Amino acid sequence: MIKYESPNVLIAGYEVVPFYKRGGLGDVLGALPIALSKIDVDARVVMPYYGSIKKDFPQKEIGSFLIVFDKKQEEVIILQGEIPDSKVPIYFLANHKLISIINLSKKRIEEFVFFDVAITGFINWLEDQGKFIPDIVHCNDWHTALVPLLLKRRMKSTIKTLLTIHNLEYQGQGSLSALDQAEIEDKDLKIITKQNPVTKLNALGEGIVHASKVSTVSPQYAKEISQINRRTKIYRYLHLREKILGRSDSLIGILNGIDTQIWNPQRDNIISHKYDIETVENGKNKNKENLLKEIGLPINRPTFTMIGRIVSQKGIDLILEKAKELVDLDINLIILGSGFKPLEKSVQSLAQKYKNNIRASFIFKEEFAHKLYAGSDFVLMPSHYEPCGLVQMISMRYGTIPVASKTGGLKDTIENNKTGFLFKNGSSADMIEAIKKAIKIYQDRDKLNKMRREAMREDFSWDKSAILYKKLYQSIVSPS
Ligand code: ADP
Repeated sequence: MIKYESPNVLIAGYEVVPFYKRGGLGDVLGALPIALSKIDVDARVVMPYYGSIKKDFPQKEIGSFLIVFDKKQEEVIILQGEIPDSKVPIYFLANHKLISIINLSKKRIEEFVFFDVAITGFINWLEDQGKFIPDIVHCNDWHTALVPLLLKRRMKSTIKTLLTIHNLEYQGQGSLSALDQAEIEDKDLKIITKQNPVTKLNALGEGIVHASKVSTVSPQYAKEISQINRRTKIYRYLHLREKILGRSDSLIGILNGIDTQIWNPQRDNIISHKYDIETVENGKNKNKENLLKEIGLPINRPTFTMIGRIVSQKGIDLILEKAKELVDLDINLIILGSGFKPLEKSVQSLAQKYKNNIRASFIFKEEFAHKLYAGSDFVLMPSHYEPCGLVQMISMRYGTIPVASKTGGLKDTIENNKTGFLFKNGSSADMIEAIKKAIKIYQDRDKLNKMRREAMREDFSWDKSAILYKKLYQSIVSPS
């Protein structure tokens, strides 16, 4: 059997930094391919060409192809660019009607079904051109999870696939009729049980069943989602996968890294004062002073920040429940995030009620995030679950101590009492205890600076994880 030392990989996803970003997946897909290219993996990326793709980076049209979708011929235009600071090619698939209008706030399943069909057409195009023939298509989350099924059934292709689950909560559920448009028949779907057949499309579920391998973004989250309630549909898809394979097939968890070029307090041009591990105390003091002056909060308080989508996953309910106790601890709390409108409203009322302690901003603002990472003392992450989490890794790189629930990637990346504080997942009382511990450290400058330095010493670069992905690709392409 041929050994693939360096497989060609086409990485597919719906957001890629810096072209388009909504959350952690965008960071991952912007940084992993660069790290892979440094270890001789020809990794290229494909994403949809939305109207809002940032145009400040060169993108040129390189061709087009036709696909049949909903019984009509559709043209897909291919544009090519490069991920900045690298030679990694990124391909954008454009179709004026079905891709450029993707409504990301609603994330309608049909539009992503079209994108997935377009990916398979694009792979054919690549093969015809003989430029780059992928050995593996690496799919990410539900938006691209139908690619394994489409490759197998619609294209009769034997190309291998890896599905990485970045968040199990979002599964891409919709009407089965979306699959008619993609010319997939019901019989191609795996029927879960005779008594309980598939009646709705679950894009992630189909990916779990049909991909050559499934992985997720931290070892702890892999453990947690493999053990979830047996009655849940996703468990059944995992189970069905093993039944079809005729053997057990554990989920692999590979931790995400962060882009240490972008997130680097020594070179960060956005923050007011650059600093490193030696100058962390002075550097953070100055950044804190500027930050708090800018937003009008007192400088001499321990300052906690939350950065992330305002959705129930992130444990906003714990903050709402304990707001009074938090304020009584005489802290500053700054919240930056956007997401679920009713939750945003509750946070807004909180910020109005406690305007001497709490600030909230419901926009997506990269520059402000940098200032918060540099100028805060602590980052608060009371997540109910966290597949990997980048916020805690970025904050540690800036010497900002995470106070976080003991779950998923938070448990894997934070060392309790050494690089951060962990508390029992979902317990608001434990959260308050952890915050009190953090405040105690804050009052002891030597201990605080020691902890900051421990956190800054952690290596969250992609280098380690890229090696693990390379090994995983090799094992998929040429299983022993
Ligand atoms: P998730 O993938 O669940 O959204 P992560 O912790 O993995 O959460 O990644 C979140 C990423 O998005 C981080 O890079 C964080 O700095 C960034 N981010 C989230 N919300 C905002 C916002 N409102 N403004 C700027 N950056 C944000």
